[in-house]
This record gives sequence, C-alpha cells and structure tokens, in this order.
Amino acid sequence: MKKVLLLGSTGSIGKQALEVIGANPELQLAGLAAGSSWEQVLAQAREHKAPAIALGDADAARRADAESDGRVLSGEAGIRDLILQTKPDLVLNALVGAAGLGPTIVALTEGIDLALANKESLVIGGELVMALAEATGAQILPVDSEHSALYQLIRSEPVPGTVEKLVLTASGGPFRGRSELSGVTPEEALDHPTWAMGGRITIDSATLVNKGLELIEAHHLFGVPYERIDVVVHPQSIVHSLVHFNDGASLAHLGYPDMRVPISYALSFPERADVELPSLDLAELGSLSFEAPDLEAFPCLRLAREAGEVGGSAPCVLNAADEVAVEAFLGGLIRFTGIAEVIDRCLEELPGGSVGHFEELYEADAAARRHAASLIEQGAVA
Ligand code: NDP
Repeated sequence: MKKVLLLGSTGSIGKQALEVIGANPELQLAGLAAGSSWEQVLAQAREHKAPAIALGDADAARRADAESDGRVLSGEAGIRDLILQTKPDLVLNALVGAAGLGPTIVALTEGIDLALANKESLVIGGELVMALAEATGAQILPVDSEHSALYQLIRSEPVPGTVEKLVLTASGGPFRGRSELSGVTPEEALDHPTWAMGGRITIDSATLVNKGLELIEAHHLFGVPYERIDVVVHPQSIVHSLVHFNDGASLAHLGYPDMRVPISYALSFPERADVELPSLDLAELGSLSFEAPDLEAFPCLRLAREAGEVGGSAPCVLNAADEVAVEAFLGGLIRFTGIAEVIDRCLEELPGGSVGHFEELYEADAAARRHAASLIEQGAVA
C-alpha cells in the first residue's frame, strides 16, 4: 500500500488523480491540499476518506476548519506541515504556478518521492531542485504527459549516452495555423482542441509558452542540452513524445490524450496499474500529422527556449511574467499578443544572474511579478 498526499486536489490534475487513486486499492490517500476551494476540498475529503487537509488561503482554511471534524492546516506553512505530518510515501504536486515550488522543496528535503505535475518547480528552480533530489535520494516522477512518455522511453535504455535527441510534441493549441492573433478572446483561447486542463495551462498552450516551459522541464529532468531537444507540432496529441537514439532508431510513446495515464504511471511506479481506457486503434485514427512550430506567430516558445539557455534566474522571470500576463489577459487588461510582450520586456529589463539558493529565486519571482504588473498598469503593452 502506497500513501499518497495530493496537493492541488480541486484542479484538473487533482480531480483526475482522485479518480486514479479511487480505482487502485494499492493507493491510499494521506491528505489533500488546495488553494481556496474549501467546500470542494471538504467534500473530497469526505468522499475519499482523506484524513488531513490544508488550504493555502488562510480565510478559506478558517471556514473549512469551522465545518470540519478534524483540524484544517492553513497557508503555505500549512501545506508544508501537511507534508511533514502525514509522512506520505509519495507527494503528487498538482498545484499550479510558482506556489508549487515550496512543497516540492519540502517533499524532496524530506526524501519523499515526488510525482510532479507542477512543471513550474523545475522551470523556476530546475538546477537546485534536481540537486536536492539527488542529495536526498528522492525520485522525481514526471506527470506531464510528454515527460512521462520520455521517462518511460529512456528508462528502457540501459546504456547512458545513447540519446541523440528528445522531441516534445505539441498540439499547437486552438490557434494553430493562424498568424494574426491580436484580436483573440479569452473564450477562444480557453477552448483547447485536445486536452481539458486548468485555466493557466490552457492559455499557456494557446501561446505555446507551455511547450517552452516543458522544454525547460525536460532539460532538467533528463539532463539533455537545449540544442538536443526539439518541439514538433502534432495536432492529434496521440504521440506524446519521441526519442532519437545514436543508432538511428527512434522510439515514440503513443496513446489517446488522457492525463489519467501519466498520473497512474507516476503514482504506481515502478508497477503499471489498470486504467480503464480503450487501446489505441491506429486504423481508426487513419493518419497522424506533424509540422514545425511557427515561431513568428508564437514567440513565447522562442522566448522560453532563450530563457532556458540563459539559465540562472531567467526561467523564473519568464514564468512569473507569464503568470501575471495570463491573468491580465483573462481579466481583459491586455491582448493575447500582449502576453509575449510582457514576458519579452521582463526578460530584457530585469537583471538575470546565476542562482545559488532558493531564496534568490523567490526574490527574482517577486521582482518579475512587480515589473510585469507595472508594465500592464502603465499600458506599456497592448
Ligand atoms: P488547475 O488550475 O486546474 O488546479 C490548480 C490547483 O492548485 C487547484 O487545486 C488550486 O486550488 C491549487 N492552487 C492554486 N494556487 C494555490 C496556492 N497558492 N496554494 C495552494 N493551492 C493552490 O491546474 P491544473 O490541474 O491544470 O495544473 C496543475 C499543474 O499541472 C500545473 O503546473 C500544470 O502546468 C500541470 N499540468 C497540467 C496538465 C493538465 O492536463 N491540466 C497537464 C500537464 C501538466 P483552488 O481550486 O482552491 O484554487
């Protein structure tokens, strides 16, 4: 029996993870955490018999505490305490955004294995996070579908140094093939063609910054230099990623797009558990198509690659600027194309630099958020 602590239980990944845990008698829920959706967390805790709860939002935690039989932990510190008190075998970090970094650090510091959906942990703090995992011996099991695919493909290779290239596939989002994007609305951008996901990642998929974040995530997870990681657009989202090996062989990971597959893989690792899904019918699919990404129409992918290559605090700035810009776009304050502008200006105008400690990342994150917000407030981006 594996004790799993689920952070971000009210989100898209979190809800699917509850389904996976509920269907697998080998997995036991150690506790739940979310941000402010306290009624939903309480209902989940009752339904899934979760013995402990934390809410990042202090007010929501107070309300939940008043309604709950047990104590509800509160704030960032409450989520940290939830990890320490429940002593799980595995933490599934499905929080969204930079808020996920703290719990990642706590879990790894404690030597607890981490199923990681929160890609921001690696985008912001990749080098330090990987070094921490190495130091404590905790495993990082990717939940992102592309990285889960790569993990499975590379794991079967006994000899290091045989990987020539990693290829991440991208659906291309709802605006694939379009070159004029300044007038698109939040509703259009939230309408993803193949994946049903949370708000931020859906917008990030529409700008392709998500694929850029995944590029940075893959670089850290697999220790492969950026020039050996490619992105190819594949609208059907059937091939989840691909590896080229040194002998001319290429291995791909295929399946219908369903996040329960990588979630289940990470939670059950090293076993494979049953997931009720049809097997892939290639004849029915008929054909799969691939094309190069359009870096002119989708500059965020280029910006993310550049930030990754610069390293240090640049990916942290990229992520923070994007979080602020996405919120502004959803709130009607900037255009869709303004997201790339905010990121570009923050990367240009904020001093980068190497990072030796997590504290410096929090400072870089805060500075980037301030700068992005002031650019938006001043109307400096369209
Ligand atoms: P959602 O927006 O659907 O859910 C986010 C979760 O995080 C919610 O439970 C939310 O709680 C919680 N949360 C947000 N802010 C805080 C905070 N400050 N403190 C504590 N909890 C917080 O996101 P997704 O499930 O879509 O994505 C989660 C992560 O997984 C992201 O990093 C994303 O990039 C990654 N991912 C997602 C995929 C998908 O298919 N959705 C695919 C691959 C990766 P509340 O409801 O209370 O706000």
